[in-house]
Amino acid sequence: MVKMYELPPLPYAYNTLEPYISEEQLQIHHDKHHQAYVDGANGILKLFDESRDKGVDFDLKAKAKELSFNMGGHQLHNLFWQNLGPASENGGKPTGVVAEKIEETFGSFERFKKEFSQTAITTEGSGWAVLVFCKSTGRLFILQYEKHNVNLVPRWVPLLVLDVWEHAYYLDYKNVRPDYVEAFWNIVNWDAVNERLESWIASTY
Ligand code: MN
Repeated sequence: MVKMYELPPLPYAYNTLEPYISEEQLQIHHDKHHQAYVDGANGILKLFDESRDKGVDFDLKAKAKELSFNMGGHQLHNLFWQNLGPASENGGKPTGVVAEKIEETFGSFERFKKEFSQTAITTEGSGWAVLVFCKSTGRLFILQYEKHNVNLVPRWVPLLVLDVWEHAYYLDYKNVRPDYVEAFWNIVNWDAVNERLESWIASTY
């Protein structure tokens, strides 16, 4: 049997991100929404296997798009959970190499924070604000991903992602996305972002 995708457990308890993200909000986001992308991807893998076994056709275009949507959702949520942590140990200003890169690229942390927040707040409908590192230039960029379309650019690596789908914040913030975006800064796990950046700098990719 070929391996399927699995929903990893959250790296912390459901109430860890309170009061910025409630236990109820985090549990539904992880257990229901993230799970749905894993199930969606696995359903397509199953269809591939069964169709090939039986020698029947399937809609390649539609399934390629659906797989990209579900896998984007799965991988982005994995990264999002890793990017967060309890406010008692996280938030504030970054240190280390990510702090240097932010200073180099944006001039200051305040400027970066403003640009990233604006990117998140102005994302139309459902999507993500994403900080990426460019391996070729050593620069940072802020992108918007529509839905779960990861806009994969070779040598551009996502470091920090913020989910701005309504399912990420509606129970806690209703329609007030800017308050959710402001709350996010209290629970960013900069150490995890730093580790990710350092490993990408050291990699040969
Ligand atoms: Mn989400």
